[in-house]
Amino acid sequence: MADFSFADFQEAVSDCLIRHRSVLDVMTKFQEASSRVNRAVAKSVTSCGCTEVCAKRQKFPEHPEGTTLSQIKQFIDTHISGELCADCRDALENEVGRCLFYLVALCEITGVDFSEAVEREWESLRTLGVFNMS
Ligand SMILES: [Zn+2]
Repeated sequence: MADFSFADFQEAVSDCLIRHRSVLDVMTKFQEASSRVNRAVAKSVTSCGCTEVCAKRQKFPEHPEGTTLSQIKQFIDTHISGELCADCRDALENEVGRCLFYLVALCEITGVDFSEAVEREWESLRTLGVFNMS
């Protein structure tokens, strides 16, 4: 993986786009793949049991002024406990990879440079930081 680049990845994906070259195929395959990512997480809870979900309303500090980001993080719960076992991690990584494949395929078909999209997002993340995501 030493010489890995997103551009190389996009080129490799492009070479594989023979059977599923239609944008409609790629769009629906991407959606299916992203559902399978969620399914892999859900199965770690419901089938394997290596993780558990316990969700409740988030509690933010009443007076957030002067509160640091790391202090705020302590208040916000991911609602997941436990750790993925090796099998569930492997399954999730496979699904994430497939999802990424179809996302990059969609970029390729629509003429979007995936590495530029990543770069733009990276720049936005660095500029806006914590305010970037809702
Ligand atoms: Zn598991």
